[in-house]
Amino acid sequence: MIVGVLVEIMNKNVDRVFEYSVPSSLEDKIQVGVRVSIPFGKQTLEGFVLEVKKEKTTEKDLREILDVVDSDVVLTKELLELGKKIQEKTLSPLIGCYQVMLPKALKAKKGTEVSIRYETYYSLNPECSILLDYPKKQQELIDYIQERGVVSKKELGEFSPSSLKRLVEKKVLKEEKKERYRLSYQNEKIEKKELTEEQKKVVSTVIANPGETYLLYGVTGSGKTEVYMEIIDFYLKQGKSSIVLVPEISLTPQMIERFQKRFGDKIAAIHSGLSDGEKYDEYRRISRGEVSIVIGARSAVFAPLQNIGIIIVDEEHSDSYKQSDPSPRYDAREVALLRKEMHSCSVLFGSATPSLEAMARAQKKVFTLLELPHRVNGKDLPVVEIVDMNEAMKHSKGHFSKILVDSIQERLEKKEQIILLLNRRGYSSFVTCKNCGFTFKCPHCDISLTYHKSSNTLRCHYCGYGEKSYQKCPECKEEALSNLGVGTQKIEEELEKYFPTARVLRMDYDTTSQKGMHEAIISAFRRGEYDILLGTQMVAKGLDFPNVTLVGVINADTSLNIPDFRSSEKTFSLLDQVAGRSGRSEKEGKVILQTFNPDHYAIRLIKNHDYANFYKQEMAIRKALKYPPYYYLCDIRVRGKEDSLVYQEALKIKNSLEKNLLNMILLGPSTAGVFKMNNIYSYHIIVKYKQVGNLYSFLQKILEHYQANVKIRVDIDFNPSQML
Ligand code: ADP
Ligand code: ZN
Repeated sequence: MIVGVLVEIMNKNVDRVFEYSVPSSLEDKIQVGVRVSIPFGKQTLEGFVLEVKKEKTTEKDLREILDVVDSDVVLTKELLELGKKIQEKTLSPLIGCYQVMLPKALKAKKGTEVSIRYETYYSLNPECSILLDYPKKQQELIDYIQERGVVSKKELGEFSPSSLKRLVEKKVLKEEKKERYRLSYQNEKIEKKELTEEQKKVVSTVIANPGETYLLYGVTGSGKTEVYMEIIDFYLKQGKSSIVLVPEISLTPQMIERFQKRFGDKIAAIHSGLSDGEKYDEYRRISRGEVSIVIGARSAVFAPLQNIGIIIVDEEHSDSYKQSDPSPRYDAREVALLRKEMHSCSVLFGSATPSLEAMARAQKKVFTLLELPHRVNGKDLPVVEIVDMNEAMKHSKGHFSKILVDSIQERLEKKEQIILLLNRRGYSSFVTCKNCGFTFKCPHCDISLTYHKSSNTLRCHYCGYGEKSYQKCPECKEEALSNLGVGTQKIEEELEKYFPTARVLRMDYDTTSQKGMHEAIISAFRRGEYDILLGTQMVAKGLDFPNVTLVGVINADTSLNIPDFRSSEKTFSLLDQVAGRSGRSEKEGKVILQTFNPDHYAIRLIKNHDYANFYKQEMAIRKALKYPPYYYLCDIRVRGKEDSLVYQEALKIKNSLEKNLLNMILLGPSTAGVFKMNNIYSYHIIVKYKQVGNLYSFLQKILEHYQANVKIRVDIDFNPSQML
């Protein structure tokens, strides 16, 4: 027997199938899709079996595989095929396309060991007929087990271990080891809600027309999640499974709980808060068909469910669905559409602010558009007040305009809750000298250092470099250093000063990095132990607190300044999301946006939650500037340690593209975004195109050309989520 093995090494040169022979003792265990351990050069590595055959294709003698790692298939037929399609679409090594689908425990990687937990169980041995007249202690044990059937070792903690051992030796008891999952889901199910007429219509359309792709455009609080659950329930009753993708940031315990309450232990939830062992357990439950619903972030799109009925992508506009680094630079939304072909299932994209790409496809009837224009509570969307900070600064307290201060005060008195967003997207709180203009930069990366108050250090958010903060400017020696950016800690201090009795809870990267903290913050706020929830983007997504009646945005426009053609779109959707946290139940909600750009359309149109006009204006701009959805983009990144060499090679690539591609627009090489990172210089070439033509085959040639070049690295990113 001969097997073709794809080896774990992530390198284009090795990214093909290598043939090995199989010793006859291992032949029974071989199947396509299992991992094997193999000699490779001087090392012992792991790889996936992609082919099983009788004849080798070379003259050379083959080496033998050393072992078969798995007893069950790790990559199903569908995943094997899916990986190949992703490779074609992203031009990344095939091995990476498979590894990204799997939890760490199942990746081909020598030396990763994530174990299965076992629990020992005892029962009466049916072959033993004499159950009486044992010593007292042993007899008690026998009686206990006889009453209960199968009992875990844990439960027998009170009995003497030696009696247990004796009875097993005497074959009175049977000892069995069974796998035990680390997580458990309760099976308490709650009554579902009676859907509104609007919700019912959406549900009935989707279930009546399987195999379609839908875009559900539903305002915040319109009950999209309830709609998802109803559709999933329908498929569950048909014996079909479902995947729900949500951005990692909104995959909160609150969200998981909602699904769990409805579907009990039929769900598996995969998120970054799980340990490798927990992820492994969840994955096994999925591949064994023990669950029918998988809810998770980007990579959950690969969940090895059989017989999928629907794949739902919530907050479809989120850029977290695109993996930008490392390769494969895949887009989970595209993968959902690939799996749709394989399962003939439906795909539903949902959002309160659909991406322009999705809405444009809906307009062209590629996707079926469904709408939920009203909130479930029958109330209007919250009133939005835009505060021009150019004016309001004169009477402000710190970063708070008078009107925001008054509104906060009013809610505090009424014992209602408040969410405050500090928009820090693309924003760094860098330190400069007010005297000479000196800024602190990372010595390895072309990026400003960020001030961290708690440790009094300056840190690089790219490479982790850190140094102690200074008193005086190292250039001009003046004590004129200012901390330009506003951090959540600074705002928290101001809140303490202006609202000394308010109970403030901060949710940002620092306060949620520990396991379980995110969860703890959300439930404490929900229980009403705090008045104000202050945070970054995290407070904008998916949270549902009935007592929140005021949302304040400290600085609505910082995200407008990032050099990315999507900055208006991202700002609009962030603001609309966070605004949607207000007034979600009985009480009216209000939103206050503080901005220095009150006339910018992305801000102005939020006032009336006017997505339709935003879409129109933004589409006109995209058309004029030849950006998506009118054109596709491809970002070619050329990197290396020697600046001039990298530039020369980038220029060569650009010139050869110019000669070989028809009807495409080429930009660069440019040093957009972070030019130097970890002492690596990078240049970008951007290709804009309407029809792919020979782009893929030509880029493939370029990649092959640079494969063996150790000084230059070329990476390709199709439809990049960020243009930095
Ligand atoms: P979205 O996902 O569109 O923001 P949700 O599904 O979170 O909206 O619904 C908003 C709130 O309304 C939630 O608290 C939800 O439980 C509630 N809700 C949704 N549908 C109904 C319904 N038909 N009847 C009563 N309450 C509902
Ligand atoms: Zn750095």
